[in-house]
Amino acid sequence: MSKTGRAVVYDEPNAPFVIREFPVRDVHADEVLVKISMATICRSDIHSYLGHRPNPCPGILGHEIIGVIDQIGETITHDMRGDPLSVGDRVTWTEYFHDGPSYYADIHDMPQKSEGLRKYGHDLVADDPHFLGGFADYCYIMPGTGILKLPEEITDEEAAPLNCGVATMMSVTEAAAITMGDSVVIQGLGLLGIYGCAIAKARGARMVIGLDTVGDRLQTAKKFGADETINVSSMETGDLVDAVRALCPPDGPDIVFEACGAAAVVPVGVKMLRSGGCYALCGLVNPGSEFTLDGNELVRKSITLKGVYNYHPRNLIQALDFVMANRTRFPFAEIVDSKFSLEQLDEAFAKAADRSVLRAAIVP
Ligand SMILES: [Zn+2]
Repeated sequence: MSKTGRAVVYDEPNAPFVIREFPVRDVHADEVLVKISMATICRSDIHSYLGHRPNPCPGILGHEIIGVIDQIGETITHDMRGDPLSVGDRVTWTEYFHDGPSYYADIHDMPQKSEGLRKYGHDLVADDPHFLGGFADYCYIMPGTGILKLPEEITDEEAAPLNCGVATMMSVTEAAAITMGDSVVIQGLGLLGIYGCAIAKARGARMVIGLDTVGDRLQTAKKFGADETINVSSMETGDLVDAVRALCPPDGPDIVFEACGAAAVVPVGVKMLRSGGCYALCGLVNPGSEFTLDGNELVRKSITLKGVYNYHPRNLIQALDFVMANRTRFPFAEIVDSKFSLEQLDEAFAKAADRSVLRAAIVP
């Protein structure tokens, strides 16, 4: 096989993307080669692109990827769930890979914290096998990746965000242990917050309240299970806390999520909680996200604080099952609200960065 494929290369932060051709080699026995059907731009791609966090370059950004198996190594026979895999199957896969023994995977059931772990969209494009990111024609699925076959019914738009946004929110809602009848508040209605509303509802929450400063997002959250939404843009902190607590009798919400990446919301969210409640953080992915909390408030109210980063492979399976079970209840396909070609990646990133689109999809 002597074919090539296009990669949209990220040379350095804030520079235009450049399309380059790289050789596509045969797979090793424990690899899969996928022809990419769709990749969506995640907020973390934008953080990398803007230089807010270090990312190897020149490289290929993008980790929310789905595609069709083009070539499969002979030792890969089944997906994570035991479904047989073969050429022509459409698949999603964990956004990270790690092969071999791991203290965190083996002892603490946290494979996502394994030492030496690598992530799609975070490698140098010059190195073999070149294609390890989403904004390209091909992607290699490396040893130690959890692969999951996609059912025929699920659309590309519904499936592309599964392996980052949806699986992460599965992990966060699992960590916060939402149970039947809970009242849940979500600070920030970007993609994570929108999925958070829907997953909280599907997990049995009685009351889901979405908070944001953007009117469109409040409308979207309503379609995804939010019972109440509050525009926090011109609200005093005390009034906001009172308004949320009034919606969650008798003494405030059971769970509050930070899903907006703004550290200043954390003390506000903690104030809303009932005694014994849980505050879970998932959006503060950039260094320097500092906030001040009164430790006495945590102790007095017996508050649990949880930080959640990435997810266990089981959360990807749950993400798929959640979308399949609720695709007539929530309009998941609407989340991916714009499509671009590889040549249009600069435009797609600009629109995603200024939030004029919710989730931009790149279709090679
Ligand atoms: Zn992501």
